[in-house]
Amino acid sequence: MKFQVPRGTRDILPGEVERWLWLEDRTRRTLALYGYREVRTPIFEATELFVRSVGEATDIVRKELYTFQDRKGRSLTLRPEGTAPLVRAYIENAPVRAEIPARLYYMGPMFRYERPQAGRYRQFWQIGAELLGSAKPEADAEMIDLFRSILWDVGLRDVIVLLNSLGDSVCRPRYREAIRAYFMEHQDALCGDCRERLDTNPLRILDCKVPSCAPVIARAPSVLESLCGPCAEHFAAVKRALDGLGIRNEEAPRLVRGLDYYTRTVFEIQSEGLGAQNAVGGGGRYDQLVKDFGGPDTPAIGFSIGMERLLLATESSGESGTTAPDACVVALEPGAALEAQILARRLRGQDDLPEGRKPLRVLVDVAGRSASSQMKWASKTGARWAVFVPKQGDGYAVRDMAAGKDEAKQPTDEALREWLLARIDRGEPREALR
Ligand code: AMP
Repeated sequence: MKFQVPRGTRDILPGEVERWLWLEDRTRRTLALYGYREVRTPIFEATELFVRSVGEATDIVRKELYTFQDRKGRSLTLRPEGTAPLVRAYIENAPVRAEIPARLYYMGPMFRYERPQAGRYRQFWQIGAELLGSAKPEADAEMIDLFRSILWDVGLRDVIVLLNSLGDSVCRPRYREAIRAYFMEHQDALCGDCRERLDTNPLRILDCKVPSCAPVIARAPSVLESLCGPCAEHFAAVKRALDGLGIRNEEAPRLVRGLDYYTRTVFEIQSEGLGAQNAVGGGGRYDQLVKDFGGPDTPAIGFSIGMERLLLATESSGESGTTAPDACVVALEPGAALEAQILARRLRGQDDLPEGRKPLRVLVDVAGRSASSQMKWASKTGARWAVFVPKQGDGYAVRDMAAGKDEAKQPTDEALREWLLARIDRGEPREALR
């Protein structure tokens, strides 16, 4: 029987995984610089959590949830996004709420039953940040600035922020009615899904990607023109802050995004190099969600970045990190295999050496190769050095694999370790090695 990776998912293999680790490291670093701390929530949650927050009429909830029953008949769902779980955890854990505003982030796989296409998967990774406890435009500006800095730090400089406001409980119902009336008038030109949305969620029509809907959507009334005074002022303040921070932005009155919990600011960041699926990520304000979930009145804003997209967009700039070993220990006779393993462990710095030891990447043959095949194998791994056991009278023999030249013998394993460390410099902090 032959198995295949499930449709819409993929294996991330050695060679590519280094780029993921690099991206994760860089992103965590940037998040920490802004004072954001990680929360790890379960991969699955009560189904109701997503239905109530993401919204019953959204594509995600209608068509894309991976829902199952556990043995006690509870309905659970693999998380399609990270905000609802994080808000649940925020409400459930008082220590997380102690800091106002709370600066939190998550990183991990999300699951949506979507039609697979380039850059679109059924299991994909997101990095998301959330700022809970401030309604001020400064919070919006910090979020978007943080997003921009994450991208900047991994070499993505050519980005633009699309900015919109969806209004609040005062002006959004008015706009909803205006836009429903407009689309009712033009319903003959709308696709079947959009005609359904007229009743369930007319704002979602703005997000429709069916080409025949585009001309009607393009002439729809703009949400920005129907904002109430406070929402208009908030939007203007966010724009002023972004301009002040030197972040390229553009008004996008048709931007609604695929989740229902947003209020006021919504945004998306696009990268020029990505083609059709050019949104690296997006986010928005959700001033009602914490309260809707039974928590304290807590205005909040967040964003999420698609990691596959980010990797695509940074293809040319990502460092891959070296995986070649520093040294291979070669056993010159079959009886020396154990000695080789012992020496390899000491060279790695994994024995009784003091804290703060520097790591060396050392491989040893465990496939019973002859001495000459071990040499071929060592050269194939890209190891810079080969060291030989058994130890001879005056020490360990060492060979520079690149230069094909034998070096002076080293009397002890400690001396050998120091000798290797002194010669191996990758021009990067050794802690960062993968
Ligand atoms: P959303 O949670 O829908 O706001 O999406 C935020 C970001 O996650 C998008 O801009 C994409 O970069 C990424 N994303 C969303 N859905 C997928 C998917 N099915 N496959 C890959 N990336 C995705």
